[in-house]
Amino acid sequence: MTAPTQVKLKPGDTIGILGGGQLGRMLAMAASRLGLRCQVFSPDPDSPAFDVVLNATCAEYADVEALELFANDVDVITYEFENVPAASAMILAARRPVLPDRKILETTQDRLVEKDFVTRLGIGTADYAEVSSGAGLRAAIARIGLPAVLKTRRFGYDGKGQAIIRAGDDPDRIWKELGTKSAILEAFVPFACEISVIAARSADGQVECFDVTENEHSDHILKISRAPAAIPEALAEQARAIAQKIANALNYVGVLAVEMFVVPQADGEAKVLVNEIAPRVHNSGHWTLDGASISQFEQHIRAIAGWPLGKPVRHGPVTMTNLIGNEVDSYAEWLTVPGATVHLYGKGPARPGRKMGHVTQVGALPPKTA
Ligand code: AMP
Repeated sequence: MTAPTQVKLKPGDTIGILGGGQLGRMLAMAASRLGLRCQVFSPDPDSPAFDVVLNATCAEYADVEALELFANDVDVITYEFENVPAASAMILAARRPVLPDRKILETTQDRLVEKDFVTRLGIGTADYAEVSSGAGLRAAIARIGLPAVLKTRRFGYDGKGQAIIRAGDDPDRIWKELGTKSAILEAFVPFACEISVIAARSADGQVECFDVTENEHSDHILKISRAPAAIPEALAEQARAIAQKIANALNYVGVLAVEMFVVPQADGEAKVLVNEIAPRVHNSGHWTLDGASISQFEQHIRAIAGWPLGKPVRHGPVTMTNLIGNEVDSYAEWLTVPGATVHLYGKGPARPGRKMGHVTQVGALPPKTA
């Protein structure tokens, strides 16, 4: 990868954020604390990030004129959403520095390209094979075995665009239902737990990792994160080293998240396999807002502003609980829980599966009473 553009913002300068969800909202709030302004670009008029910035651009990502005007208004551009079309990122990059480099999106937008990249670095992943037809799926199953997970190569998130295939299932039916021409088949990983590493990298190559986080999912959506992960220190060190290697290989500037599986081995040891790279701040790093001296959002802003990264210190054991769908209705109860910090994203309808807010709790949790 080419050397990242040198950016040195001053307080009062403006950061352009592509994407208007809760990640953009929390990035803008972190920037504001550092005296920086943000302008958010999002096609959705109800974007939660619009509420916290003075200037917003509500336009489609393919709207060339809107992209140009947006670029003219800002000093550096970043994203909270990794599926920004490559052509839009190119238009922006011709006018302003885009960090992390837009070419990184080409690696992380496609599960096959991403897994090939991780494998080339000598880092373990689940066994995988490219699939582009029903016959191809049968051949991949013969190679990888069952159970296995079939995933669309692009635009999958929170378990969307994927299906588990078990012995006895009809691969042709599953292929048709997935409704894509490009997928990968992954061996099903019998993991002991799922972890993630949130790493920040500056343009001069400094990397700072937050403590490894352990993640619990429910219906494929992150439900609870705990830091530090309850894993041996040697394994945590291995996980951080993997995130650092990936960040360096991408010549990354900003915060990225690497999701991993911890897999028990026959000899009683465990190993770490990479599942996915998110080229952005990540839900599993929300605990850093209240649980550490510097949040993932501030680290990202510092990195893309060309400012020194912080050395984050965790304040104690931290638990982050997502409020998903109508769970947000319990916000008033959470407000009364001693030690809990409530974050609400100001979103419209609490549709099932929609991330509406989260709660962080620092310190040992009291025993459950209900
Ligand atoms: P992904 O969209 O790849 O992050 O997958 C969403 C969730 O599905 C993961 O967090 C895991 O809980 C589960 N999952 C994904 N891939 C695999 C796999 N190869 N083996 C076992 N579970 C998986």
